[in-house]
Amino acid sequence: GKSKTPVYIEILNGKIEIKDAASLWGKGVEETTEFIYREYGKAVGNLVIGPAGENLVKFASIMNDKHRAFGRGGVGAVMGSKKLKAIIARGREKIKIYDRERLKAVVYEANKVIKGNPITSKALPQFGTAVLVNVMNEFGMLPTRNFREGQFEGADDISGEAIAHEYLVRKTGCWGCIIQCSRLTKVENREGEGPEYETVWSLGANLGISDLKEIIIANYYANDLGMDTITLGGTLAAAMELTDKGIKDTGITFGEVDKLLKYVEDIAYRRGIGDELAEGVYEFTKKYNAEEYAMHVKGSTFAAYDPRGAQGMGLGYATSPRGACHLKAGYSVGQEVLGAPKRIDRFVATGKGSIVARAQNVSAYLDSLTVCQFASFAVSEFLWARILSAITGIEFEGEDLVYIGERIFNLERLFNMREGFDRKQDRLPERLLKEPFKSGPSAGKVVELDKMLDEYYEYRGWDKNGKPYDWKLKELGLLK
Ligand code: SF4
Repeated sequence: GKSKTPVYIEILNGKIEIKDAASLWGKGVEETTEFIYREYGKAVGNLVIGPAGENLVKFASIMNDKHRAFGRGGVGAVMGSKKLKAIIARGREKIKIYDRERLKAVVYEANKVIKGNPITSKALPQFGTAVLVNVMNEFGMLPTRNFREGQFEGADDISGEAIAHEYLVRKTGCWGCIIQCSRLTKVENREGEGPEYETVWSLGANLGISDLKEIIIANYYANDLGMDTITLGGTLAAAMELTDKGIKDTGITFGEVDKLLKYVEDIAYRRGIGDELAEGVYEFTKKYNAEEYAMHVKGSTFAAYDPRGAQGMGLGYATSPRGACHLKAGYSVGQEVLGAPKRIDRFVATGKGSIVARAQNVSAYLDSLTVCQFASFAVSEFLWARILSAITGIEFEGEDLVYIGERIFNLERLFNMREGFDRKQDRLPERLLKEPFKSGPSAGKVVELDKMLDEYYEYRGWDKNGKPYDWKLKELGLLK
Protein backbone atom coordinates (compact mmCIF):
# COMPACT_ATOMS: atom_id res chain seq x y z
CA GLY A 1 0.00 0.00 0.00
CA LYS A 2 0.92 3.65 -0.02
CA SER A 3 -0.11 6.82 1.72
CA LYS A 4 -1.90 9.70 0.00
CA THR A 5 -0.06 12.26 2.11
CA PRO A 6 3.52 12.35 3.49
CA VAL A 7 3.99 10.21 6.59
CA TYR A 8 6.68 8.67 8.76
CA ILE A 9 6.56 5.43 10.72
CA GLU A 10 7.31 5.45 14.43
CA ILE A 11 8.18 2.13 16.12
CA LEU A 12 8.62 2.57 19.88
CA ASN A 13 8.94 -0.47 22.13
CA GLY A 14 7.05 -2.63 19.66
CA LYS A 15 4.19 -0.13 19.17
CA ILE A 16 3.82 1.08 15.58
CA GLU A 17 2.22 4.39 14.59
CA ILE A 18 1.98 6.20 11.28
CA LYS A 19 2.52 9.93 11.76
CA ASP A 20 2.01 13.00 9.63
CA ALA A 21 5.17 14.19 7.82
CA ALA A 22 3.73 17.07 5.79
CA SER A 23 6.10 19.55 7.45
CA LEU A 24 9.12 17.33 6.61
CA TRP A 25 8.31 16.71 2.93
CA GLY A 26 10.74 18.62 0.73
CA LYS A 27 13.32 18.90 3.50
CA GLY A 28 16.87 17.59 3.18
CA VAL A 29 18.19 14.55 5.02
CA GLU A 30 20.09 16.67 7.57
CA GLU A 31 17.12 18.81 8.57
CA THR A 32 14.82 15.79 8.76
CA THR A 33 17.30 13.89 10.90
CA GLU A 34 17.73 16.90 13.21
CA PHE A 35 13.94 16.89 13.69
CA ILE A 36 14.10 13.19 14.61
CA TYR A 37 16.94 13.77 17.08
CA ARG A 38 14.98 16.63 18.73
CA GLU A 39 11.79 14.57 19.01
CA TYR A 40 13.25 11.19 19.95
CA GLY A 41 16.84 11.72 21.07
CA LYS A 42 20.02 10.73 19.27
CA ALA A 43 19.90 7.07 20.26
CA VAL A 44 16.96 6.37 17.97
CA GLY A 45 17.32 4.23 14.83
CA ASN A 46 16.42 6.26 11.76
CA LEU A 47 15.96 5.81 8.01
CA VAL A 48 15.32 8.97 6.01
CA ILE A 49 14.88 9.97 2.37
CA GLY A 50 15.72 13.33 0.85
CA PRO A 51 14.20 15.26 -2.07
CA ALA A 52 15.69 12.75 -4.56
CA GLY A 53 13.62 9.94 -3.04
CA GLU A 54 10.51 12.13 -2.98
CA ASN A 55 11.06 12.96 -6.67
CA LEU A 56 11.52 9.26 -7.52
CA VAL A 57 15.08 9.61 -8.80
CA LYS A 58 15.92 6.05 -9.86
CA PHE A 59 19.09 6.01 -7.76
CA ALA A 60 17.75 7.68 -4.63
CA SER A 61 19.17 6.28 -1.42
CA ILE A 62 17.86 5.76 2.10
CA MET A 63 20.06 7.58 4.63
CA ASN A 64 20.82 6.73 8.24
CA ASP A 65 22.20 9.19 10.82
CA LYS A 66 22.58 11.81 8.05
CA HIS A 67 25.62 10.39 6.28
CA ARG A 68 25.23 6.60 6.00
CA ALA A 69 23.57 5.37 2.82
CA PHE A 70 21.65 2.35 1.64
CA GLY A 71 22.90 3.50 -1.71
CA ARG A 72 22.38 1.04 -4.51
CA GLY A 73 19.22 0.01 -6.30
CA GLY A 74 17.06 3.10 -5.86
CA VAL A 75 15.48 2.06 -2.56
CA GLY A 76 14.90 5.73 -1.65
CA ALA A 77 12.50 6.03 -4.59
CA VAL A 78 10.51 3.09 -3.21
CA MET A 79 9.96 4.99 0.05
CA GLY A 80 9.22 8.15 -1.95
CA SER A 81 6.60 6.34 -4.04
CA LYS A 82 4.79 5.46 -0.80
CA LYS A 83 5.09 9.05 0.50
CA LEU A 84 7.12 7.62 3.37
CA LYS A 85 9.66 10.20 4.55
CA ALA A 86 11.23 8.30 7.43
CA ILE A 87 11.15 5.29 9.72
CA ILE A 88 12.29 5.63 13.31
CA ALA A 89 12.66 2.81 15.82
CA ARG A 90 13.67 2.35 19.44
CA GLY A 91 13.20 -0.51 21.87
CA ARG A 92 14.09 -1.36 25.45
CA GLU A 93 14.58 -5.09 25.10
CA LYS A 94 18.11 -6.45 25.25
CA ILE A 95 19.54 -8.69 22.53
CA LYS A 96 19.90 -12.18 24.01
CA ILE A 97 23.42 -13.65 23.91
CA TYR A 98 23.63 -17.43 24.46
CA ASP A 99 27.19 -17.48 25.83
CA ARG A 100 28.54 -14.02 26.67
CA GLU A 101 31.92 -15.22 27.98
CA ARG A 102 32.59 -17.24 24.83
CA LEU A 103 31.54 -14.28 22.69
CA LYS A 104 33.96 -11.99 24.54
CA ALA A 105 36.80 -14.44 23.97
CA VAL A 106 36.14 -14.79 20.21
CA VAL A 107 35.68 -11.03 19.74
CA TYR A 108 39.03 -10.54 21.53
CA GLU A 109 40.59 -12.95 19.02
CA ALA A 110 38.92 -11.20 16.06
CA ASN A 111 40.13 -7.79 17.23
CA LYS A 112 43.63 -9.22 17.54
CA VAL A 113 43.72 -10.37 13.91
CA ILE A 114 42.25 -7.02 12.78
CA LYS A 115 45.04 -5.22 14.66
CA GLY A 116 47.64 -7.52 13.09
CA ASN A 117 46.51 -7.01 9.48
CA PRO A 118 48.14 -4.08 7.60
CA ILE A 119 44.96 -3.20 5.67
CA THR A 120 42.63 -3.14 8.68
CA SER A 121 45.13 -1.77 11.21
CA LYS A 122 46.99 0.81 9.11
CA ALA A 123 45.74 1.65 5.61
CA LEU A 124 42.00 1.95 6.36
CA PRO A 125 42.21 3.71 9.76
CA GLN A 126 44.92 6.12 8.60
CA PHE A 127 43.59 7.20 5.21
CA GLY A 128 40.06 5.79 5.02
CA THR A 129 38.71 3.88 2.04
CA ALA A 130 40.07 6.60 -0.28
CA VAL A 131 43.50 5.08 0.37
CA LEU A 132 42.52 2.97 -2.66
CA VAL A 133 42.73 5.91 -5.09
CA ASN A 134 46.50 5.74 -5.43
CA VAL A 135 46.55 1.94 -5.17
CA MET A 136 44.08 1.45 -8.05
CA ASN A 137 45.80 4.17 -10.07
CA GLU A 138 49.12 2.36 -9.67
CA PHE A 139 47.54 -0.84 -10.98
CA GLY A 140 45.99 1.01 -13.95
CA MET A 141 42.51 0.19 -12.63
CA LEU A 142 41.17 3.61 -11.61
CA PRO A 143 38.37 4.12 -14.17
CA THR A 144 38.84 7.55 -15.69
CA ARG A 145 36.46 9.62 -17.85
CA ASN A 146 33.77 6.98 -18.14
CA PHE A 147 36.22 4.05 -18.25
CA ARG A 148 38.12 5.39 -21.26
CA GLU A 149 41.39 5.29 -19.32
CA GLY A 150 42.70 3.37 -16.32
CA GLN A 151 44.89 6.04 -14.77
CA PHE A 152 43.99 9.57 -13.70
CA GLU A 153 46.52 12.39 -13.80
CA GLY A 154 44.80 14.02 -10.79
CA ALA A 155 44.75 10.88 -8.59
CA ASP A 156 47.10 12.34 -5.97
CA ASP A 157 44.86 15.39 -5.54
CA ILE A 158 41.77 13.32 -4.69
CA SER A 159 43.47 10.58 -2.67
CA GLY A 160 42.93 9.51 0.93
CA GLU A 161 46.27 11.09 1.70
CA ALA A 162 45.06 14.45 0.30
CA ILE A 163 41.84 14.23 2.35
CA ALA A 164 43.87 13.53 5.51
CA HIS A 165 46.19 16.42 4.77
CA GLU A 166 43.65 19.08 3.86
CA TYR A 167 40.12 18.38 5.11
CA LEU A 168 40.15 15.75 7.86
CA VAL A 169 38.60 16.66 11.21
CA ARG A 170 38.94 13.17 12.66
CA LYS A 171 38.43 9.56 11.72
CA THR A 172 35.12 7.97 12.58
CA GLY A 173 33.17 4.82 11.78
CA CYS A 174 30.38 2.41 12.51
CA TRP A 175 29.26 1.57 16.03
CA GLY A 176 31.61 -0.80 17.83
CA CYS A 177 34.15 -1.06 14.99
CA ILE A 178 37.82 -0.70 15.87
CA ILE A 179 38.89 -0.06 12.26
CA GLN A 180 37.15 3.34 11.96
CA CYS A 181 37.64 3.77 8.22
CA SER A 182 35.24 6.72 7.79
CA ARG A 183 36.31 10.36 7.72
CA LEU A 184 34.70 13.37 9.33
CA THR A 185 35.68 16.23 7.04
CA LYS A 186 35.19 19.98 7.03
CA VAL A 187 35.00 22.38 4.11
CA GLU A 188 34.51 26.04 4.93
CA ASN A 189 31.86 26.01 7.67
CA ARG A 190 30.29 22.71 6.79
CA GLU A 191 31.14 19.35 8.35
CA GLY A 192 30.12 15.95 7.10
CA GLU A 193 31.21 12.35 6.65
CA GLY A 194 33.16 11.20 3.64
CA PRO A 195 33.90 11.13 0.84
CA GLU A 196 34.55 7.41 0.60
CA TYR A 197 36.74 5.91 -2.12
CA GLU A 198 33.79 5.16 -4.40
CA THR A 199 32.66 8.79 -4.20
CA VAL A 200 36.00 10.53 -4.78
CA TRP A 201 36.30 8.26 -7.78
CA SER A 202 32.75 8.59 -9.16
CA LEU A 203 32.61 12.38 -8.78
CA GLY A 204 36.35 12.75 -9.40
CA ALA A 205 38.42 10.57 -11.76
CA ASN A 206 35.39 9.23 -13.60
CA LEU A 207 34.33 12.80 -14.43
CA GLY A 208 37.88 14.05 -15.03
CA ILE A 209 37.61 16.27 -11.93
CA SER A 210 40.51 16.69 -9.49
CA ASP A 211 39.17 19.54 -7.34
CA LEU A 212 38.88 17.74 -3.99
CA LYS A 213 37.06 20.58 -2.25
CA GLU A 214 34.24 20.57 -4.83
CA ILE A 215 34.04 16.77 -4.73
CA ILE A 216 33.63 16.87 -0.94
CA ILE A 217 30.89 19.51 -1.21
CA ALA A 218 29.16 17.51 -3.97
CA ASN A 219 29.25 14.48 -1.65
CA TYR A 220 27.62 16.54 1.14
CA TYR A 221 24.96 17.68 -1.37
CA ALA A 222 24.27 14.14 -2.59
CA ASN A 223 23.93 12.83 0.97
CA ASP A 224 21.57 15.64 1.95
CA LEU A 225 19.49 15.18 -1.21
CA GLY A 226 19.58 11.40 -0.68
CA MET A 227 21.28 10.05 -3.82
CA ASP A 228 23.69 7.18 -4.47
CA THR A 229 27.00 8.85 -5.36
CA ILE A 230 28.25 5.87 -7.40
CA THR A 231 25.27 5.95 -9.78
CA LEU A 232 25.23 9.75 -9.77
CA GLY A 233 28.83 9.82 -11.03
CA GLY A 234 28.27 6.98 -13.50
CA THR A 235 25.27 8.76 -15.00
CA LEU A 236 27.05 12.13 -15.20
CA ALA A 237 30.04 10.44 -16.86
CA ALA A 238 27.77 9.10 -19.62
CA ALA A 239 26.20 12.57 -20.04
CA MET A 240 29.70 14.03 -20.40
CA GLU A 241 30.71 11.45 -23.00
CA LEU A 242 27.57 12.07 -25.05
CA THR A 243 28.50 15.77 -25.18
CA ASP A 244 32.08 14.89 -25.98
CA LYS A 245 31.08 12.58 -28.84
CA GLY A 246 28.60 15.13 -30.25
CA ILE A 247 25.64 12.75 -29.74
CA LYS A 248 23.69 15.00 -27.37
CA ASP A 249 24.71 18.33 -25.91
CA THR A 250 23.98 17.72 -22.25
CA GLY A 251 25.55 21.03 -21.27
CA ILE A 252 28.39 19.39 -19.37
CA THR A 253 31.58 17.60 -20.32
CA PHE A 254 34.59 16.05 -18.61
CA GLY A 255 36.40 18.24 -16.11
CA GLU A 256 33.71 20.95 -15.83
CA VAL A 257 33.84 21.19 -12.06
CA ASP A 258 32.04 24.55 -11.90
CA LYS A 259 28.84 22.86 -13.13
CA LEU A 260 28.99 19.84 -10.82
CA LEU A 261 26.88 21.11 -7.90
CA LYS A 262 24.18 22.50 -10.18
CA TYR A 263 23.85 19.15 -11.97
CA VAL A 264 23.66 17.28 -8.65
CA GLU A 265 20.76 19.51 -7.59
CA ASP A 266 19.09 19.46 -11.02
CA ILE A 267 18.99 15.66 -10.93
CA ALA A 268 17.52 15.52 -7.41
CA TYR A 269 14.83 18.08 -8.29
CA ARG A 270 14.40 16.76 -11.87
CA ARG A 271 15.07 20.15 -13.45
CA GLY A 272 15.92 20.42 -17.18
CA ILE A 273 18.31 17.71 -18.37
CA GLY A 274 18.43 16.57 -14.72
CA ASP A 275 14.98 15.06 -15.25
CA GLU A 276 16.38 12.75 -17.95
CA LEU A 277 19.50 11.90 -15.94
CA ALA A 278 17.34 11.06 -12.91
CA GLU A 279 16.15 7.99 -14.84
CA GLY A 280 19.65 6.49 -14.54
CA VAL A 281 22.36 5.74 -17.05
CA TYR A 282 20.59 3.01 -19.03
CA GLU A 283 17.30 4.83 -19.67
CA PHE A 284 19.13 8.09 -20.37
CA THR A 285 21.51 6.69 -23.00
CA LYS A 286 18.77 4.55 -24.56
CA LYS A 287 16.83 7.70 -25.35
CA TYR A 288 19.71 8.81 -27.61
CA ASN A 289 20.54 5.35 -29.03
CA ALA A 290 23.83 5.58 -27.18
CA GLU A 291 23.66 2.58 -24.81
CA GLU A 292 27.27 1.69 -25.63
CA TYR A 293 28.37 4.64 -23.46
CA ALA A 294 26.37 3.45 -20.45
CA MET A 295 28.82 1.68 -18.17
CA HIS A 296 26.38 -0.61 -16.43
CA VAL A 297 25.34 -4.20 -15.77
CA LYS A 298 21.62 -4.93 -15.38
CA GLY A 299 21.00 -1.17 -15.33
CA SER A 300 23.28 -0.54 -12.38
CA THR A 301 26.48 1.50 -12.83
CA PHE A 302 29.98 0.27 -12.02
CA ALA A 303 32.00 0.70 -8.87
CA ALA A 304 35.59 2.00 -8.88
CA TYR A 305 37.55 -1.03 -10.10
CA ASP A 306 38.20 -1.38 -13.83
CA PRO A 307 37.89 -5.11 -14.54
CA ARG A 308 40.34 -4.98 -17.44
CA GLY A 309 42.94 -5.03 -14.67
CA ALA A 310 41.32 -7.86 -12.67
CA GLN A 311 39.55 -10.63 -14.60
CA GLY A 312 37.69 -12.00 -11.58
CA MET A 313 36.19 -8.61 -10.86
CA GLY A 314 34.78 -8.58 -14.43
CA LEU A 315 33.13 -11.96 -13.91
CA GLY A 316 31.82 -10.82 -10.52
CA TYR A 317 30.27 -7.64 -11.91
CA ALA A 318 28.63 -9.58 -14.76
CA THR A 319 27.03 -12.18 -12.49
CA SER A 320 26.16 -9.98 -9.52
CA PRO A 321 22.41 -10.13 -8.87
CA ARG A 322 22.07 -6.34 -8.66
CA GLY A 323 24.39 -5.33 -11.47
CA ALA A 324 27.87 -3.84 -11.35
CA CYS A 325 28.06 -3.57 -7.57
CA HIS A 326 31.48 -4.37 -6.06
CA LEU A 327 29.95 -5.74 -2.87
CA LYS A 328 27.69 -8.22 -4.66
CA ALA A 329 30.41 -9.07 -7.21
CA GLY A 330 32.40 -10.90 -4.54
CA TYR A 331 35.09 -8.20 -4.31
CA SER A 332 37.73 -10.50 -5.79
CA VAL A 333 39.85 -7.37 -6.17
CA GLY A 334 40.76 -8.12 -2.53
CA GLN A 335 42.67 -11.19 -3.73
CA GLU A 336 43.63 -10.00 -7.22
CA VAL A 337 45.04 -6.61 -6.22
CA LEU A 338 45.35 -6.30 -2.44
CA GLY A 339 46.48 -9.89 -1.86
CA ALA A 340 43.90 -10.42 0.91
CA PRO A 341 43.47 -13.07 2.14
CA LYS A 342 45.98 -14.37 -0.47
CA ARG A 343 47.27 -13.02 -3.77
CA ILE A 344 46.16 -14.49 -7.12
CA ASP A 345 47.16 -13.46 -10.65
CA ARG A 346 44.84 -10.62 -11.67
CA PHE A 347 45.24 -11.09 -15.42
CA VAL A 348 44.56 -14.84 -15.54
CA ALA A 349 40.99 -15.80 -16.47
CA THR A 350 41.28 -19.58 -16.05
CA GLY A 351 40.20 -20.72 -12.60
CA LYS A 352 38.40 -17.48 -11.74
CA GLY A 353 34.96 -19.12 -12.04
CA SER A 354 35.28 -21.03 -8.77
CA ILE A 355 37.17 -18.23 -6.97
CA VAL A 356 34.51 -15.63 -7.81
CA ALA A 357 31.57 -17.93 -7.02
CA ARG A 358 33.01 -18.70 -3.59
CA ALA A 359 33.81 -15.00 -2.95
CA GLN A 360 30.19 -14.12 -3.82
CA ASN A 361 28.93 -16.78 -1.40
CA VAL A 362 31.18 -15.30 1.30
CA SER A 363 29.86 -11.77 0.59
CA ALA A 364 26.29 -13.08 0.81
CA TYR A 365 26.76 -14.63 4.26
CA LEU A 366 28.64 -11.54 5.50
CA ASP A 367 25.72 -9.34 4.41
CA SER A 368 23.35 -11.76 6.08
CA LEU A 369 25.35 -11.52 9.33
CA THR A 370 25.24 -7.71 8.82
CA VAL A 371 28.99 -7.45 9.30
CA CYS A 372 31.44 -5.34 7.33
CA GLN A 373 33.32 -6.78 4.36
CA PHE A 374 36.40 -4.74 5.29
CA ALA A 375 36.70 -6.55 8.62
CA SER A 376 36.78 -9.77 6.61
CA PHE A 377 40.11 -8.82 5.08
CA ALA A 378 41.35 -10.06 8.47
CA VAL A 379 38.55 -12.09 10.06
CA SER A 380 38.04 -15.55 8.51
CA GLU A 381 34.83 -17.56 8.23
CA PHE A 382 36.06 -19.76 11.09
CA LEU A 383 35.98 -16.78 13.46
CA TRP A 384 32.63 -15.51 12.17
CA ALA A 385 31.23 -19.02 12.68
CA ARG A 386 32.42 -19.07 16.29
CA ILE A 387 30.95 -15.61 16.91
CA LEU A 388 27.58 -16.74 15.51
CA SER A 389 27.72 -19.94 17.59
CA ALA A 390 28.38 -17.98 20.80
CA ILE A 391 25.45 -15.64 20.12
CA THR A 392 22.87 -18.23 19.05
CA GLY A 393 23.94 -21.38 20.89
CA ILE A 394 23.80 -23.26 17.57
CA GLU A 395 27.16 -24.66 16.46
CA PHE A 396 28.36 -23.42 13.06
CA GLU A 397 31.53 -24.33 11.14
CA GLY A 398 33.10 -21.90 8.65
CA GLU A 399 31.88 -23.97 5.70
CA ASP A 400 28.31 -23.83 7.07
CA LEU A 401 28.41 -20.07 6.53
CA VAL A 402 29.69 -20.44 2.96
CA TYR A 403 26.85 -22.91 2.31
CA ILE A 404 24.33 -20.38 3.70
CA GLY A 405 25.87 -17.75 1.40
CA GLU A 406 25.53 -20.07 -1.59
CA ARG A 407 21.89 -20.67 -0.71
CA ILE A 408 21.27 -16.91 -0.56
CA PHE A 409 23.04 -16.33 -3.88
CA ASN A 410 20.97 -19.02 -5.60
CA LEU A 411 17.75 -17.64 -4.13
CA GLU A 412 18.65 -14.23 -5.55
CA ARG A 413 19.31 -15.90 -8.90
CA LEU A 414 15.87 -17.52 -8.82
CA PHE A 415 14.31 -14.15 -8.00
CA ASN A 416 16.05 -12.54 -11.00
CA MET A 417 15.08 -15.45 -13.28
CA ARG A 418 11.45 -15.00 -12.31
CA GLU A 419 11.84 -11.39 -13.53
CA GLY A 420 13.18 -12.63 -16.91
CA PHE A 421 16.96 -12.50 -16.33
CA ASP A 422 19.33 -15.19 -17.65
CA ARG A 423 22.76 -15.44 -19.33
CA LYS A 424 21.90 -12.53 -21.63
CA GLN A 425 21.98 -10.13 -18.68
CA ASP A 426 25.27 -11.53 -17.29
CA ARG A 427 27.10 -9.18 -19.64
CA LEU A 428 29.60 -6.35 -19.50
CA PRO A 429 29.68 -3.21 -21.67
CA GLU A 430 31.49 -3.74 -24.99
CA ARG A 431 34.15 -1.23 -23.92
CA LEU A 432 35.40 -3.66 -21.28
CA LEU A 433 35.31 -6.62 -23.69
CA LYS A 434 36.83 -5.02 -26.78
CA GLU A 435 38.73 -1.81 -25.93
CA PRO A 436 42.03 -2.42 -24.15
CA PHE A 437 43.86 0.49 -22.50
CA LYS A 438 46.64 1.82 -24.71
CA SER A 439 48.99 2.51 -21.81
CA GLY A 440 49.52 1.86 -18.12
CA PRO A 441 49.97 -1.28 -16.01
CA SER A 442 46.74 -2.85 -17.33
CA ALA A 443 47.36 -1.98 -21.00
CA GLY A 444 46.40 -4.46 -23.71
CA LYS A 445 43.87 -6.40 -21.60
CA VAL A 446 40.14 -6.94 -22.02
CA VAL A 447 37.81 -9.05 -19.88
CA GLU A 448 37.61 -12.67 -21.12
CA LEU A 449 34.04 -12.98 -19.97
CA ASP A 450 32.59 -15.89 -21.98
CA LYS A 451 35.46 -18.18 -21.06
CA MET A 452 35.02 -17.43 -17.35
CA LEU A 453 31.23 -17.52 -17.49
CA ASP A 454 31.09 -21.17 -18.67
CA GLU A 455 33.49 -22.23 -15.95
CA TYR A 456 31.53 -20.20 -13.37
CA TYR A 457 28.15 -21.72 -14.31
CA GLU A 458 29.63 -25.21 -14.19
CA TYR A 459 31.09 -24.64 -10.71
CA ARG A 460 27.80 -23.19 -9.50
CA GLY A 461 25.76 -26.13 -10.81
CA TRP A 462 23.93 -23.94 -13.33
CA ASP A 463 23.24 -24.80 -16.99
CA LYS A 464 24.75 -22.96 -20.00
CA ASN A 465 21.98 -20.39 -19.76
CA GLY A 466 22.72 -19.66 -16.11
CA LYS A 467 19.75 -21.58 -14.67
CA PRO A 468 20.43 -23.61 -11.51
CA TYR A 469 19.99 -27.37 -12.10
CA ASP A 470 17.33 -29.07 -9.98
CA TRP A 471 19.99 -31.21 -8.26
CA LYS A 472 21.75 -28.03 -7.10
CA LEU A 473 18.53 -26.53 -5.76
CA LYS A 474 17.80 -29.81 -3.94
CA GLU A 475 21.32 -29.85 -2.51
CA LEU A 476 20.72 -26.33 -1.16
CA GLY A 477 17.30 -27.21 0.23
CA LEU A 478 15.58 -24.86 -2.20
CA LEU A 479 13.61 -27.59 -4.01
CA LYS A 480 11.89 -30.67 -2.62
S1 SF4 B 1 32.42 -1.37 10.07
FE1 SF4 B 1 33.50 -1.32 8.09
S2 SF4 B 1 32.75 0.55 7.09
FE2 SF4 B 1 32.26 0.73 9.30
S3 SF4 B 1 34.01 1.82 10.19
FE3 SF4 B 1 34.40 -0.36 10.41
S4 SF4 B 1 35.64 -0.92 8.60
FE4 SF4 B 1 34.67 1.06 8.18
